[in-house]
Amino acid sequence: MMQIADVLSSDMEGKDVEIRGWVHRERGSNRLKFIVLRDSSGHVQCVFSRDDFEEKWDEIDHLQVETSMIIKGTARKDSRAPTGYEVKVKEYTIVGKSENFPITKDQSIEFLADNRHLWLRSTKMTAILKIRSTVFGAIHEYFRSEGFYEYQSPIFQAVQCEGGSELFQVDYFGRKDVFLAQTWQLYAEPAIFALEKIYTIAPSFRAERSKTSRHLTEYWHAEMEVAWADFESIQNYGESCIKHILRRVLEKNSAELKVLGRDASKLEPAVNKPFVRMTYTDALRILKDKCGMEIEWGKDLRTIEEEKLSTLYDVPIICTRYPKKVKAFYMMEDPQNKDVVLGCDFLAPEGYGEIIGGSQREHDISKIKERLVEQGEDPSQYEFYLDTRRYGSVPHGGFGLGVERVVRWICGLDTIKDAIPFPRTIERYKP
Ligand code: ATP
Ligand code: MG
Repeated sequence: MMQIADVLSSDMEGKDVEIRGWVHRERGSNRLKFIVLRDSSGHVQCVFSRDDFEEKWDEIDHLQVETSMIIKGTARKDSRAPTGYEVKVKEYTIVGKSENFPITKDQSIEFLADNRHLWLRSTKMTAILKIRSTVFGAIHEYFRSEGFYEYQSPIFQAVQCEGGSELFQVDYFGRKDVFLAQTWQLYAEPAIFALEKIYTIAPSFRAERSKTSRHLTEYWHAEMEVAWADFESIQNYGESCIKHILRRVLEKNSAELKVLGRDASKLEPAVNKPFVRMTYTDALRILKDKCGMEIEWGKDLRTIEEEKLSTLYDVPIICTRYPKKVKAFYMMEDPQNKDVVLGCDFLAPEGYGEIIGGSQREHDISKIKERLVEQGEDPSQYEFYLDTRRYGSVPHGGFGLGVERVVRWICGLDTIKDAIPFPRTIERYKP
């Protein structure tokens, strides 16, 4: 048994091949039947001639899209075949019949979402899923090559980290103070005292109530945390991680980018050039000077402003030193300026928005308590976390990367929903 890609890539002219897969397309005449067979590696046209299959012609004539089958035949070059090769069928076995496949051309987005389990087989989704796999692999590869340990935090958590309004509350044996993880962070920081450099790729859950093209309620979060790190090095890790992901995708997935109509040259600058680093205050000035957008100092950047900013450069922007008020309680106050924190957001080019959020962590316990109170929290619920500042605290920091955000940018997708097999949003949790 070989894969379809092997039929297409090596010189198989005149050779016998045996392949298996699913009928992607079918058409026929009285004498000939053409099917395009698909497997995970590619597509190839297969031709049945009535002269060879007179008794079975009725079955062949009625072969339906998505039938699974095994085909033995001879490969031959044919410039008219969509992939340059075709297989002249000598023998075949039907493995699983297919009923009328519901997905035909020009279906609505809603219909495709209802039939997501079947839509995954489409050429588009297959390409995205392959790129997604490369991205996950590259993240593991990157952190492991940098000496990080893979570490897991709980998904049931009794604290909140990123804002109460976006918490998913769980009915935990009748208790109501349990939430699904929005981030691993509060449970990751305790582990740097054991492992120093840690990372994970895990689901995060956020009750995002507004419809946007970049928010899911369940997404895959690649997070890292490093002991002894300074703010600069957190940014450097983020930049080289993204460069590594892009490099791997460009190496392995040029065919998939092509299927998606994504111009790979748009991604190359981010591999070859340094990212643009600017402070929040710089960003306001640039937005004013270059885009005519005036934003009051202290307001968080909105999607529209991030988009405008990111279209000014062909590499991601690392925007740093945000006003303290708009960022989470654990971010460290800038020693040079008490009004800002050492937090950084990475904004992907072409308007794809934030892909990483990171920071130097505050290690002054009284400042953390103060800010928890300011944000309406009860610091006594955070005692386990505050212990990280009581017993041998060290400078440290980390970031979270939204894997689907990165996949969306790389693939050039209109919506983040296509960057994950079964997207969950406020409106959709089925199939
Ligand atoms: P945003 O402002 O876009 O809501 P955030 O500030 O809430 O992002 P962080 O809390 O910093 O995001 O989370 C780290 C990363 O996780 C983000 O940079 C982003 O890549 C990703 N992320 C956050 N929320 C979502 C979501 N709802 N769906 C998908 N990815 C997300
Ligand atoms: Mg958010």
